[in-house]
Amino acid sequence: MAFIKYVKDGIGYCIEDYGVKTIYLNKNLLKYKELHNKVLKHELKHYNTKGFWNNVIVDIKDFTDITKQIQLFGFTLKHPGAWSSIMPLTINKKEGLSVDIFMVIVWLVAGLMAWILVKSYLWWIDEKGNKTKNIVNI
Ligand SMILES: [Zn+2]
Repeated sequence: MAFIKYVKDGIGYCIEDYGVKTIYLNKNLLKYKELHNKVLKHELKHYNTKGFWNNVIVDIKDFTDITKQIQLFGFTLKHPGAWSSIMPLTINKKEGLSVDIFMVIVWLVAGLMAWILVKSYLWWIDEKGNKTKNIVNI
């Protein structure tokens, strides 16, 4: 049996304390039944998965549920306490500084995508300018 505690911050996480695994869920999730059940289902997967990389795989698989990601983002905007769940680094009294490797990857990929988008836009603008110049030169 899994212990579930409702807390003010984060979205959902599973922590082992003195050999007892506990699932923590944001209490505001209770207002959104569908999302609550999705998050609980996800944390139960972590609950039953052993090993660091196996848990990273659980997160990667979950990321393909786009509808859930959209709901989670909306939830995060509405309940700012949830922001700590999507930060690559978190500091809390219990665990100190902890690194969420999955979120580090997510932010790196998002950063790279943004960089590619900006770079290609700048290239496109530059290319357009060059064409105009060439026409003028002829
Ligand atoms: Zn997860």
